[in-house]
Amino acid sequence: MTINSGIREKLSRLGIRNTLDLILHLPIRYEDETHLLLIGDLLPGKTAQIEGTVIHNEVIMCPRRQLLCQVEDSSGSLVMRFLHFYTSQIKAYAVGKRVRLLGEVRDGFWGIEMVHPKCRVIEQQGEMLAGALTPIYATTVGLSQKTLSKLIAQALHDAEQSRILIETLPNSIIEKHGLVGLWESISTLHYPLPDVSLEMLHSHSHPAWRRIKFDELLAHQLSMRMHYRKRRSSSAPVLSKKNHLIQRFIEGLPFTLTSAQHKVIAEISQDLSVACPMHRMLQGDVGSGKTIVAAVAALQAIESDHQVAIMAPTEILAEQHFEKLSAWLTPLGVDVIRLSGSQNKKQKQKAQDEIAQKTGLLVVGTHTLFQDRIMFCQLGLVIIDEQHRFGVQQRLALQLKGTQSNVVPHQLMMTATPIPRTLSMSYYADLDVSIIDQLPPGRAPLITKLIADNRRDEIIERIQYVCQQGKQAYWVCPLIEESEALQLQTALETYNSLSKLLPKLVIGLVHGRLSSQEKNEVVNAFKQGCIQLLIATTVIEVGIDIPNASLMVIENAERMGLSQLHQLRGRVGRGSETSICILMYRQPLSEIARQRLKIIFETTDGFEIARQDLHLRGPGEYLGARQSGVPMLRFADLEQDYDLLIAAQSVVDELLNHYPDLAEKHIDRWLGNRVAFLRV
Ligand code: ADP
Ligand code: MG
Repeated sequence: MTINSGIREKLSRLGIRNTLDLILHLPIRYEDETHLLLIGDLLPGKTAQIEGTVIHNEVIMCPRRQLLCQVEDSSGSLVMRFLHFYTSQIKAYAVGKRVRLLGEVRDGFWGIEMVHPKCRVIEQQGEMLAGALTPIYATTVGLSQKTLSKLIAQALHDAEQSRILIETLPNSIIEKHGLVGLWESISTLHYPLPDVSLEMLHSHSHPAWRRIKFDELLAHQLSMRMHYRKRRSSSAPVLSKKNHLIQRFIEGLPFTLTSAQHKVIAEISQDLSVACPMHRMLQGDVGSGKTIVAAVAALQAIESDHQVAIMAPTEILAEQHFEKLSAWLTPLGVDVIRLSGSQNKKQKQKAQDEIAQKTGLLVVGTHTLFQDRIMFCQLGLVIIDEQHRFGVQQRLALQLKGTQSNVVPHQLMMTATPIPRTLSMSYYADLDVSIIDQLPPGRAPLITKLIADNRRDEIIERIQYVCQQGKQAYWVCPLIEESEALQLQTALETYNSLSKLLPKLVIGLVHGRLSSQEKNEVVNAFKQGCIQLLIATTVIEVGIDIPNASLMVIENAERMGLSQLHQLRGRVGRGSETSICILMYRQPLSEIARQRLKIIFETTDGFEIARQDLHLRGPGEYLGARQSGVPMLRFADLEQDYDLLIAAQSVVDELLNHYPDLAEKHIDRWLGNRVAFLRV
């Protein structure tokens, strides 16, 4: 069949570009036109097909124009009703015509009825019934079900002749996992025979569906695994543990490391000491002490005379890391270099020269680190803090930068946004993961309160009281995603009104429009206690570590996402004082906002919050498909199809080792050109 450009354009709106896409455009539901029921047996609420003769036909105005036809068979009669109709239909369904109707049976004013049923005029008695359930496809404006069905039927016909749908699973795997053949699954799903359970088809639990979902999950697992193997086959510098710096560093700390910190340090240390690039994600809830782990990893690279780059998502955080790390490492004789957007030309040049010439130093910056001008010298380890804030491209760019004659630097990614287990088994299957599952001791509890914004005055009094006790507080302004200008305006207004209401307090303001130097000045003043109340936009979301701040107010908390709230709240509860986080909300709350606030109120466990967040939003939104560049699953559901995920995972190595051609074909079929976007 030739497809004209109009249809082609409509197909592409459905994501269909070729024959394979057509074949994989699986029905969203089915209609059963394979048998007829008697009108006398119909039950309201059920969908049914009947056949009968029109015995009455009338257009009435009640209250608006509608076409009523009475249709009768040997067992009784029903009313067919159209609220929109063409004049031609009045004639087509004239008295005496034989019609076949498919629709939902309802109890109507005139007895049982079908409103807008699918209606076909039967020219000859005994016309064949459909041999299979009728597939209904997702379609788009201007593309009829009929045209789409035809195109799909043609595609399936073509597929039978070509090798488009060749089986990519060897028999042994099919048998072992009780799967159905691919061709059989596809044809069952498009044209299920009358005896197939509609229930199982609709719930996607039919074996034909399970095969499709298995294949889809397998494709992801295969490409992740290939990626993993490719990485394992490239080489990285051997950064063995010499221990003279690390030991001194750890011994000099004012506290002892937690056993969780010791455990992850050992895992990272092991990776660094072999000639294969590390690709490890360090997960630890806010405040669990990841920075020290990063410092120890950095020291191991530096001991081996290699450079380390630490990349942070914001200038504020980069500055904080710089200060902390130089305070820790400079006494050990390690050079720590800051690269920042706010440095003047001379400072920048100086930093660049050092980075290009000296091995064994630590560089701290934002994404400015991978600008063209920056040339590293023996970059051995790249550490990316709050990795979820960076896109795939940025992470890749930094790694490539350090790649010299095929030697790839090790990579450590850190995040406080934990990856739920189902995701780490799927989208993140190519990563190794280390988890800090313990907070440093001595942290006082954190109390979360939900308060409606009509009690704002009480909250303001509370701030006054707390600050007069020598403590400090944050006030987080509402998030206004649509407009940065409006966001700024709100922050300024909040600052002005709170300054009036709290004249005795020293109040600071930090927002995204300040230069990084200005931001740092404000944050430092707060850190040193010169500012008592810091009004901030969500720029303070990540990383900021100021233990004396023990009260946080988040305005319009209902507008924020779960992980954002968790991150913000993590700014308090870092000292030995009991901390309070007040989530102020405005009514009425949407259902989703209510659920989010309930979750954040009930738990402070980042893993639990992430799990619930994934549940609320689904993996696509959770991962931020655009940001992470991960192709999403179309058919499989990670939670519901967990058993299939495990099954798919278990055959990956067998397929890659013994049937590499099939594996390649399989990936190509399911991920095609999207594989290029796969995560790094
Ligand atoms: P995050 O994991 O959120 O990045 P940080 O690395 O900023 O956490 O650490 C939070 C605070 O806890 C810092 O002030 C840090 O010095 C402190 N800290 C880290 N490890 C320990 C420990 N083992 N005992 C006590 N305090 C610690
Ligand atoms: Mg941190």
